[in-house]
Amino acid sequence: MRQKIVAGNWKMNTTLDEGIILVKECLERIDGPADNTKVILVPPFYLLKDAVLLVKGRSSIHVGAQNCYEADSGAFTGEISAPMIRSVGAEYVIVGHSERRKYFGDTDERIARKIDSVLKEGLSPIFCCGEELPARQSDQQENVVENQIRKALYHLNGDQLQRVIIAYEPVWAIGTGQTASPQQAQDMHAFIRDLLARLFTQEIADEITILYGGSCKPSNAEELFAQKDVDGGLIGGASLNANDFSAIVKEL
Ligand code: PEP
Repeated sequence: MRQKIVAGNWKMNTTLDEGIILVKECLERIDGPADNTKVILVPPFYLLKDAVLLVKGRSSIHVGAQNCYEADSGAFTGEISAPMIRSVGAEYVIVGHSERRKYFGDTDERIARKIDSVLKEGLSPIFCCGEELPARQSDQQENVVENQIRKALYHLNGDQLQRVIIAYEPVWAIGTGQTASPQQAQDMHAFIRDLLARLFTQEIADEITILYGGSCKPSNAEELFAQKDVDGGLIGGASLNANDFSAIVKEL
C-alpha cells in the first residue's frame, strides 16, 4: 500500500526562535496522523537538529532538508552535504526544487548526482519535477516531466527508486495561488506512474509515492488528495502556518 505523505517546505523563512515555535505548534495541532501516513517538516538547515529532537516520540512525523550538495565534503564554501544532514538525524532531502533549478543553477545532471549522494547516505530524496507555464500552454508538460525524470532517476536500480518520493510541482502553480486543477494533477500523476512502470516495473510504479505541490492549501487539499494517483502534497507557503498545515494533513 502506498505511503501517503504531507511535507512542509519552509523555504528561507523563520529565525531560530520562530522556527522552534512553528515546529511546536505543528506538533500540537497534528494528531496522528493516521496509519500509513507521514508528515515531513522541512525547515532551513540551522533548525534541523532542533526539529529532529522536538519530533522524537512522534513516529509518523519526520524531518527533512531543503537541499544538499553532491559531494560529501571538501572546499565548497556555504554548501551542506548529505552526510551532514544524516548526522543531525534528518531523513529526507528535497532535490530538484524549481527554485534551486531557477536561482542556483541546479541542472538535471547535478540533480541526478545529488540524488545519488542522498541515497548513498541512506536518506530519501523528495525529487521535484514540473513544467513552466509556456510548456503547459503548448501542451508540452508531459515531455518536460518525462525528460526530468529520465535524467534524474533512470540510472537508479529498483531498490533505490523505491526510496524516492516524487513531487510533481508545476512551476506556474508554485507560490502563485494558481493551483493545478485536480484533473490536471491526476493526469500528470498517472502519466508519471505509467512512465515509471515502463522504465522500471509496474510493482515499483504502484508503490511509489507521488506528491502534488503548488499552492496547495486547506481549501483545495481535499479535492487534490482525493485523486487516485495523488498521494499527498509538498506544501510551501501554507506550511508556515500551523493551523493551515495541520488542516492540510487532516485531508490525507
Ligand atoms: C513549494 O515550494 O514546493 C510549493 C509547493 O510552494 P507553494 O505551496 O507555496 O506553492
